[in-house]
Amino acid sequence: MFGKRIKIKELLLSDNVNYQATVMGWVRTFRNNQFIALNDGSTNNNIQVVVSLGSLDDITLKRITTGACIKATGEIIASLGKGQKVELNASSIEILGDSDAEKFPLQPKKHSLEFLREIAHLRFRTNTFGAIFRVRHSLAFAIHDFFNKKGFVYLHTPIITASDAEGAGEMFKVTTLPLDGTAPRNEDGSINFKDDFFGRNTNLTVSGQLEGELAAMAFSDIYTFGPTFRAENSNTTRHLAEFWMIEPEMAFHDLEDNMNLAEEFIKYIIRYAMENNREDLEFLSQRLEEEEKQKPQNERSELGLIQKLDFVVNNDFERITYTEAIDILKECSHNKKKKFNYLIDKWGIDLQSEHERYLVEKHFKKPVILTNYPKEIKAFYMRQNDDGKTVAAMDILAPGIGEIVGGSQREERFDKLTERMKEMHIPTEELDWYLDTRRFGACPHAGFGLGFERIVQFVTGMGNIRDVIPFPRYPKSASF
Ligand code: ATP
Ligand code: MN
Repeated sequence: MFGKRIKIKELLLSDNVNYQATVMGWVRTFRNNQFIALNDGSTNNNIQVVVSLGSLDDITLKRITTGACIKATGEIIASLGKGQKVELNASSIEILGDSDAEKFPLQPKKHSLEFLREIAHLRFRTNTFGAIFRVRHSLAFAIHDFFNKKGFVYLHTPIITASDAEGAGEMFKVTTLPLDGTAPRNEDGSINFKDDFFGRNTNLTVSGQLEGELAAMAFSDIYTFGPTFRAENSNTTRHLAEFWMIEPEMAFHDLEDNMNLAEEFIKYIIRYAMENNREDLEFLSQRLEEEEKQKPQNERSELGLIQKLDFVVNNDFERITYTEAIDILKECSHNKKKKFNYLIDKWGIDLQSEHERYLVEKHFKKPVILTNYPKEIKAFYMRQNDDGKTVAAMDILAPGIGEIVGGSQREERFDKLTERMKEMHIPTEELDWYLDTRRFGACPHAGFGLGFERIVQFVTGMGNIRDVIPFPRYPKSASF
C-alpha cells in the first residue's frame, strides 16, 4: 500500500511543519552523505531529504545514488537551507530501485538535447523535459476543456484510412501482404490489394478532417485530437512523421467565425498553461534566455518567453489577405536586397517559411492570420471565392515557428466542389461518402487543424519539434 505517500509538489506548496510524511521519488543528488535532493516528477523542485548522521547503515547509504528510487519517511520541518521552505528529516529510508552510479548516463553537467533524445527514459527526469511534458499535458487538458465548455463533441476519427485523396502529405502504407516480392499482382504489375487485410489499399491518416465534416453535419460542432502521420522527408525543426493534431469542424461558420474561434482557442490554451504551469514556464524562460545568449545580438528575440506569451494572449492577431502579404513581401527591403532564398516576384506563389517568419517576426511582430489564398496552392475542399481566383483559406503564423494552424471555410456547394475535384484529378467515386454531406442537408461550415507539437513548441520556447514529443518519429529515426 503506497497510499500514504505525499507528492512533492503538494508538500512544497504549504509551509506546514511538524508532521509525519512519506515521499517517494528518484534521487537527483546526494551530498555529504546527508542531503538527498529527491524528485517525483510532480514539480521541477526537489524536496530535500535529510539523513541524520549515523542513522543509516553503510550498505543503505551506499545505495543512495543518483537515479535510485527511494521511499523516505520522517518529519517535515522548516528548512534552514535557502530556496526551500520545508524539508524532510528522514527517520527511515527504503531503497525501491537501485541505480548503478557508474553506469548512470545522466551526469550533473548539462547534456545536449540531442544526447537526451537517445535516452528516452531518463530524459523525462531532467528539469527541461520535466517542464516541457508537464506543459504539454496542461495544453492537452486545456484543449479538451475549451471545446467541452463550448459544447463540441470529441470525435475519434480513424487512424487507418482508405482515403488517400486529400493530398495533405505523403502517406505511410498499412498492409499485411508479404514484402518479399510475392504479394499478388494485377495484370499491369501493380499490387493487388484484394487479398490484403482490408481488401483494399490503406494508409495511416494524414488528417481527420473529411471524417470530421461528416460528424459536424450532425452534431454542429466537433473536434478531433489524435495522431496523424506524414511520410514527408522533411528534416526540419517543425516537422515530425508522427504528430498530434486538433481539428475542430463547425457547421454554420464562415471564414471569419473560423478565425475568431481559432484565435480565442489559441489564447485560451496559452493562458491556461500560464496560470497552471508558472514555475515550469519560468524555468523554460530562463533556459531560453541562456540559449539565446549563444546567438549573435541581432538574432536574439526581443521578448522573453513569458513576455512573449503575455503579449500573444493580450493582443489581437493581425489579419491580412494573401494578396496584401505578397505586396508587403514584394516591396520589403529583404526581398529587394535578395536576402530570401525564394524571391517574391509574383502573385500566386506558395509562401515559404522564411516569408511567413518575416511577416510575423520582422514586419508585424505578432501572430498573423493570412486569408484568401490562390486556389491553386490550396486543397480542393476550400470554399471558392467570387473572384474565381482565391479560396476562403486561413493560416495562422506564429513567431519563431511559422504555420501553426491551417484552416478554411469548406465548399458546401456540390457542383462547385465536384467541379474543383475534377480539375484537380481527385477521384470523386472514392470520396462518394464525403460528397454525401453535400447531397443531404449541406450547410456552410468551416474548420481548422492545429499541429499540437507546434503550439507546444511555441509555449515552451523549444527550437526543435523533436524535443516536445515524448518519442519523436522522423526520417531514419523510430527508436523506443
Ligand atoms: P507545413 O507547411 O508547415 O508543412 P502543412 O501546410 O503541411 O504545414 P496542414 O496540412 O495544413 O499543414 O496541417 C495542419 C497543421 O498541422 C499545420 O498548420 C501544422 O501546425 C501541423 N503540421 C503539418 N505537418 C506537420 C508535421 N510534419 N509535423 C508537425 N506538425 C505538422
Ligand atoms: Mn507540410
